[in-house]
Amino acid sequence: MSEIYYVNGEFLSSKESVVPSEERGHQFGDGVYEVVRVYGGRPFLLNWHLERLDRSCKAIGVENPLSHEEWTELISEAVRRSGEEEAQVYWQVTRGIAPREHLFPQAQPSVTMTVKPLLLKASAKSSEKSLLCIPDERWANTWIKTINLLPNVIAKETAHRFGAVEALFVKSGDFTEGSSSNAWFVRGTDIYTAPANRYILPGITRRFVLQLAQEIGYTVYEQSVALDDLHSMDEVFMTSTTLEVQSIHSVVADRNKMSLLYNLPDIPAQTLLSTPEDPAEIWRSSRNNVAARLQDAFTDAVNKFRNYEEPVQ
Ligand code: PMP
Repeated sequence: MSEIYYVNGEFLSSKESVVPSEERGHQFGDGVYEVVRVYGGRPFLLNWHLERLDRSCKAIGVENPLSHEEWTELISEAVRRSGEEEAQVYWQVTRGIAPREHLFPQAQPSVTMTVKPLLLKASAKSSEKSLLCIPDERWANTWIKTINLLPNVIAKETAHRFGAVEALFVKSGDFTEGSSSNAWFVRGTDIYTAPANRYILPGITRRFVLQLAQEIGYTVYEQSVALDDLHSMDEVFMTSTTLEVQSIHSVVADRNKMSLLYNLPDIPAQTLLSTPEDPAEIWRSSRNNVAARLQDAFTDAVNKFRNYEEPVQ
């Protein structure tokens, strides 16, 4: 397996693949991205990723430089060069290379791409996987898959310093999503996940798992779950392209900062990166049947995809 780097029309080695100082992605975070999972040498649910990329580009006024056919060809070529059957492809489209100036430049969008071996699922046993509640202070357009991920990066780091596998954002008392995953809650055979409105990224795995859950016969409500209703849930699980379905054992919060999960005060915090001082476990799972069933269904679908048995989309 070799890692593959692609920059504006050329496949390069990792050493050659440098970002120009005046790249707008580098300077302003002025771009959007996608991550697709490769199973058996082929990108999974690629059309859905490409549709989301179209929406992200349109939202920020960057012309998507490639058609779906051209993206499919480029991604397939990159995967082929990597020689890897199990991988993840990351690519971004930015507003291009131009002298630093806030106004949009007359520049061609930049395309960069990497193919890397799959990052394995977090090594913690499921009995140790917890989420840390973090106030959702992100902007009101988190549905766009922009490369501006500072709040997400800080949230994930805070969660990890605390020993949690992921941050769980809470906005005005309601759960939105994880820092790099969508959140799901199960009560009996009813499944809840936040609606795909402006406040969450509409995950491709979310879309696929929603379909699988309905096929199995679960009732799925695209409704926000309130922090105050968490106690009534039997299961919590997270989904993403690289995680698939990950069941969660407990949810914790910083006792001193619980009020921020309901209302953000006018005064900013001195530091965003704090280690929770007084952690409280606010929920513990009673089972993981539904998440396990969904992961099995996901694996079955992927195996069919690997064997070209049926078109998944
Ligand atoms: N929410 C956020 C904030 C994310 O960054 C991600 C992963 N990029 C997801 C949800 C999950 O999306 P997907 O299933 O498309 O990987």
